Amino acid sequence: MVSTAWRQHAKDRRLWAGAALSVAALGGLLSTVGAGRSAVAASSGFAQAQQASLTLALPPAVSNRIYAAPSARGRPIIVLDAGHGGRDPGATSVSGAIQEKQLTLALAAELRDLLVERGRVRVAMTREDDTYLGLEDRAGLARRLGAGLFVSLHADSAPNPLARGATVYSLSDVASDAEAARFAAAQNGGVLLEGPGSGSVPALLADLAVRSEMLASANFASRLVGKSAGRFELRPQPHRFAAFHVLRRAGAPAVLFEAGYISNVDDELLLSSAEHRSAMVLALAQAIEADVAARNRR
Ligand SMILES: [Zn+2]
Repeated sequence: MVSTAWRQHAKDRRLWAGAALSVAALGGLLSTVGAGRSAVAASSGFAQAQQASLTLALPPAVSNRIYAAPSARGRPIIVLDAGHGGRDPGATSVSGAIQEKQLTLALAAELRDLLVERGRVRVAMTREDDTYLGLEDRAGLARRLGAGLFVSLHADSAPNPLARGATVYSLSDVASDAEAARFAAAQNGGVLLEGPGSGSVPALLADLAVRSEMLASANFASRLVGKSAGRFELRPQPHRFAAFHVLRRAGAPAVLFEAGYISNVDDELLLSSAEHRSAMVLALAQAIEADVAARNRR
C-alpha cells in the first residue's frame, strides 16, 4: 500500500514539476534573497499571465514553489512543513515499513494537492523530497513568504503500543502537560528560544507579535480538532500546548499536527492507506480554509 502511494506521489511530483515556471527566464529579477515579500509581490503580478505555479528565488535549502489555482491569486500562502527528511528519518513504524519522514511528505503533498484543487489558498512546502532541513530553514520560509499559516506535519511514536490517535500542538510559553513539554524539547533539538535582548523595545514588540500568533495558533488548533472529530481517531485532549521553536519562529499562526502513532498497529495501517489519509487531509484543508476566511489573512 505504501509503495503505491509513493509511486503516485512521484507521478504527482513530475506533474507539478511540469507545471512549475522557472524564474531563470526572469534574468535574476527575483534573485534578492532578503526581499522575500517583494519577490512574492512581484511574482503575483507576473502570475496574472500564468495559469500554473511559480518558482521564487529563495535559498536552495528549502523548496521554493508557490502552488496556486488561478482562482487563488492574491490569497494567503499556507506553508506546509513535512517534518524530518534526509538524514533525520523521524520515527519508524511498528512494522518497520514506514519512516516518519516518508509519511509526513505524503501527507503534505496530498494536502497541497487538495488545497490547490479547492482554490481558496496558495500553498508552499518547506520540502518536496527527501531533504534534510533545520528548524530555522522551515520557519524562515514562512517568514519570507509572509505566510498566513504554518502547518508542520508529523507522526507520533511511543513505547506504549496501544497509544494512538492524532494530536494538534500550538505554541505556548507554558506546556499543557509534561509529555507536551518533553516533546517540544525533543523537537527543538536543544535550540534555545531566543529573541532580542529582554527589556528593549524590539523585544517588547517581538513579544507582542508572538502573543498574537499564540492566540491565533490556538484558535486554528481548536478549529482543526473540531473538523477532525468523528472523522479519524484523536487522542484524549487532542489540543496541546508547548514551546516549539519552529512554531515561534514562523512569524505566522502555526501548529504542529501529529497524524497518529506509527508505533501502533492500527494507526500504522490507517496512515499507510491513501484512502484513509484523505479524511485527514480533508479535515486539515477545511480547517485551513475556515481559518483564513475567518481572519481574512494575507
Ligand atoms: Zn516528528
